[in-house]
Amino acid sequence: MQNTKIGWIGLGNMGVPMVKSLLRAGFNVSVYNRSAGKTNPVTAEGAKVVHSPVQLLQQSDILFLMVADDASITSLFTAENGILSASCKDKIIINMSTVSSAISQKMAGLVKEKGGAYLDAPVSGSVKQAETATLVMMVGGDENAFLSVKPVFDCLGKFSLRVGEHGAGNAAKLAINTLLALHAQGLAETISFANSQGIATHDLLMLLNESALANVFMKIKGEAILQQNFKAAFALKHIVKDLKLAQDAGLNSPLAQTVTQTFEQAEPQLANEDIIAIYKTLQQDNA
Ligand code: NAP
Repeated sequence: MQNTKIGWIGLGNMGVPMVKSLLRAGFNVSVYNRSAGKTNPVTAEGAKVVHSPVQLLQQSDILFLMVADDASITSLFTAENGILSASCKDKIIINMSTVSSAISQKMAGLVKEKGGAYLDAPVSGSVKQAETATLVMMVGGDENAFLSVKPVFDCLGKFSLRVGEHGAGNAAKLAINTLLALHAQGLAETISFANSQGIATHDLLMLLNESALANVFMKIKGEAILQQNFKAAFALKHIVKDLKLAQDAGLNSPLAQTVTQTFEQAEPQLANEDIIAIYKTLQQDNA
């Protein structure tokens, strides 16, 4: 498997540590990123740079994408020198970005016409889980294609599961990220309320982290609130994108409506800060 040639598009917060995991596992990895300067952290560890998506496809057996949104995917597949400008015969293209099921279904069809296979395989977990190869992957698409690339998934994360046909991975991811947004707003409101009652953030977090409610997200994001460190691991603009995609797919529940409104209102000020920067607006609301 380690002789498999891997191509990787997208070297943002997630792409860089994920490529490093593949390099550590001994894979030959070539990369493309729209902004060329962002390839430096992975070339320093042995990745090769390729200058267009189509060139990368042509020299890869498996091509991963980890980019922002539906618009990025459309551009990378269909623009001049895009993925679909060459044959996809015998290639497996794996889209790990959090995007709509609809765009995955569309691109899967176009890749199939060109002789290849497409899997949607978004991930749960953030930069820390990417760095430690403990991501969780949810996969939509052909079962045989999934089984053939599972050893590569095993180098990126701790668990991968095929949940259905094309777009099913994206649907599972949007459901999980709805809960993520609810967790973020819930944690921020809880700390803010406790503070208003004279309870120190540090003390509240010690109690929460020992309680039946404890979870990894709360531990990491509680610490971020305590340190007032809102540098993006998962940029707030991405959760707004995900909540809108979930709404487009039919999500209309009371909590989801509230949390979408909260994050949409915060986006103009906090788009490029971390999701838990929502604490800043909720703290103001509570003051
Ligand atoms: P990020 O740091 O914002 O990086 C976004 C990447 O997408 C960059 O490589 C960027 O290229 C590329 N890109 C954006 N627009 C593009 C376009 N029009 N054409 C080509 N490339 C484009 O994002 P991230 O945090 O790595 O997240 C990537 C995906 O994973 C998103 O869908 C996100 O929702 C999802 N995700 C993120 C996390 C997390 O905790 N961060 C966790 C799970 C899933 P440039 O460098 O040129 O801008």
